[in-house]
Formats: sequence, structure tokens, C-alpha cells
Amino acid sequence: MMQFTLNKTVVHIGKAAPELAAWKSGAGAYENKEDAFFVADLSDIVNKFRLWTSLLPRVQPFYAIKCNDDPCVLGVLAQLGTGFDCASKDEIQRILDMKVSPNRIIYANPCKQKSYIEYAAKHDVSMMTFDNEIELYKIKTIFPDAKLVIRIMPPDDTKSLRPLGMKFGCDPNDAGHLLRIAKELDLNVIGVSFHVGCSCYDGSAFAEAVASAHSVFQVAEEVGFNFDLLDIGGGFPGQWSDKIAIKKLCDKLTPALDRYFPEDSGVRLIAEPGRYFVESAFTVAVNIIAKRVMPRDNPSGYSDGLSGDKEPHYMYYVNDGIYGSFNCLVYDQIEIEPLLLKTLEPGVATYSSSIWGPTCDGLDCIKKQCLLPELNTGEWLAFRNMGAYTMCAASDFNGMPKPRCYHTIRESCWYVVAVLKPSQISDVFLYLVGMVLVD
Ligand SMILES: *Cc1c(COP(=O)(O)O)cnc(C)c1O
Repeated sequence: MMQFTLNKTVVHIGKAAPELAAWKSGAGAYENKEDAFFVADLSDIVNKFRLWTSLLPRVQPFYAIKCNDDPCVLGVLAQLGTGFDCASKDEIQRILDMKVSPNRIIYANPCKQKSYIEYAAKHDVSMMTFDNEIELYKIKTIFPDAKLVIRIMPPDDTKSLRPLGMKFGCDPNDAGHLLRIAKELDLNVIGVSFHVGCSCYDGSAFAEAVASAHSVFQVAEEVGFNFDLLDIGGGFPGQWSDKIAIKKLCDKLTPALDRYFPEDSGVRLIAEPGRYFVESAFTVAVNIIAKRVMPRDNPSGYSDGLSGDKEPHYMYYVNDGIYGSFNCLVYDQIEIEPLLLKTLEPGVATYSSSIWGPTCDGLDCIKKQCLLPELNTGEWLAFRNMGAYTMCAASDFNGMPKPRCYHTIRESCWYVVAVLKPSQISDVFLYLVGMVLVD
């Protein structure tokens, strides 16, 4: 494989993922050859950014870093000019370390540790959210010049797959009370934010929240504030199969923005997408480390509910599971489908199969039932759309390592990473030709 060095970054020239898996199992890889690994296509993030600017040109995205804090993701987004939604001192520090201006950060955690507010104040990260009275008194003593954003509960968060429920956001009817306290404390409140909940497929949830935010703008004016910021939060779906849903969502969101916050209102519009930017960019490849064969009608074996014949049920054990990158199966209601990293003969037989993680916990199952051709230990399975809330929340429970990530980018998007500083991408492999997995 050809390679060259750019700013101390080793750049490999094009290989498709199956070849990557083969290469990885050869001498080129750092780690054990059968270890699970991620492939991230950074061009996918560039394409999502292009889609965003075409659909919501007035709304500046502030990427929610908690969703996936891979250094290349952050570097590419910083280069594209997004802002960042940070929730802790560490997240803020990582963005500032990339030389991103502090005014491109919103500290969007309504309940903050004191020392973190001190850190934000010291580094001029002044935009931050709140949703309660006690937070206002706290901010007054530590960072009285902060630019505060009041977070309201959306009118209806049941239209998202995972509502944030009662944890955050004040009732819009209580906003007046909070804003009067802020005024008495001589604090600077600049606008409103909300979050409709994760994976929202219904634009009317956004539109209703925009209308509700507008009513809070009016209350603020009565209290004596002149708001000029609306933050429409996150919740945008992240798979390319969701593209039509995203467009439909914007068909409802955009008219609401234009009606309540038209261009000439002078209100700056921002959002905090997380999943949207990263979900489809990452694929994880796992290795089959062990295999058991059960008769499908064996009552003491694994039951797939299809008993009664003598066909086998294959149990495959792979080296990443729900304590690792697949923790999203527990926290996020997502559906995953295994892909093979090899081309199949036409008409090959498939069998009832299940896929299990590597730990000793019986709960550690990735897929309870699927149809697969018979596979052998040492073969690979891949899962797409694994970029959101996966590796960032993985643990090394039972001593199982987290997969390493290999980065790829198409030549057409190379300009974005070519200008990144080595500190942002050093020690990362970049593939110049887009790599597509075999479906
Ligand atoms: C998690 C979070 C986001 C991102 O949500 P997605 O559903 O991934 O878009 C945005 N804003 C806040 C305040 C969050 O907590």
C-alpha cells in the first residue's frame, strides 16, 4: 500500500474496507490482528455539513461533542466552521486546544459544577444555558458577565425516539419568573434554547418549540431584555436513509423560523446537532472469536422461538459488545444489521444465528436473531451507522479493549483535512479514496 507523510500524519492511499480488514490483519496494524476496529469516512461529515447548509442556511450548527469526540471529527467540523456544544470543562478544553475561538462554544449544560463555570469564565467561554433559579445565583457569584440562554421544555417531546423528559428545561410559563430574577441580579440573558429529544422525526415538534420560544422572547421584552439568540438544540436524525425525513422536518421547521424569527428580526439562529453529523460516518468491524452450534429445537440451548426442526442455530461471539461500542443498544433504541466483509456465492444457504459480545455477561448480546450464511472464527462482521453515542460511552469492562478507529476521506473532501494541524490529526491514518463496505 502506498503511503506518504503530511504534517507528521501518515496518509495511506486508498483501499476498500474489506482490503483494509485484510491489510489490518497483516503486518501493517499496530494491535492484535483480530481486534475490532472502526472505519470513519470523514467525507460523510463534510457531506452532512453541505446538506445542513442547503436545508437550514440561516442556522449555524454547534456540534454536540458528547455524541462522538473523535479528534478527527472535531478537527473536520472546526475546519468547516461549526461551533461546538460542550457540557464540561474537559469538552471545552478540547475545543479551545484546537484554537477555536471561545465565541464558537456554547456551554449547553443547564446544571454546571462551580469550578467548570470558573474555567469557562477564565477562558471567555461566555455563552451558557440555565433553567433554574439556583443556577442563576451560582453564575452571578462566579461569572456575572456570562451571556445566558434560558432553556425551556419543548411543548411535546414525545415525537422523538428518546425524549429528555423532565431532566432539563423550565416550563415556558415559569420563564417570566426566572427572567425577573435574572434582571434583579443584573445578569445578561441573550436568548432561548430547547432540545426536542433525540432522533426526532417530526418537524412539528420543532415548529411548536419555536413558537413557544417566541412567546418567551415576548416575556423577556416585558422584563427588559433584548433577546437576539435562538438555539433550536439537537435531535436531528443521522442516517442517510433519514434524508427524506430530515427534509420533511425542515419543511415544517423553516416556515416556523421564518414566521417567528424572520431574517430582519436580527435574531441569530443556532442549533446543537450531535447524531446528525456522525451517525452514518462510522462503521465498526468485529471479528468472530468463537462459535457454538446449537440444535434449534434443543430446549437447553439458545431458543430462537422457531423450534421444531433439526436445523442448527449458530451462536457467534465477537470482540465488541454492549459494554463497548454497542452500548447504544442499551441507551439508544437503535436497530443494527450485520454486514459481511466478503462477497457471497449466489444462492448460499443461510441459518438462524445470534451475535454475542465478548464479556462474560449473559446480557451481552448484539443481535438475538438474524439469518447468516455459516461463518467461521476469524471472519469479520461489520455494522454501519455506528458513529453516534457508541465509542464515546464504551467501557473496557472485563478487560475488553475499545476498538481503534481508522479514518478515511475522499479526495474531493481532502482540502478539509489537508489544512488541519498535526496536533489535531497526528497519529491518524487517512485513506484518500472513499471506502465502501460490501453490502
Ligand atoms: C445531547 C445533546 C445534544 C445533541 O443531541 P442529538 O440528539 O445527538 O442531536 C444537543 N444539545 C444538548 C443540550 C444535548 O444534551
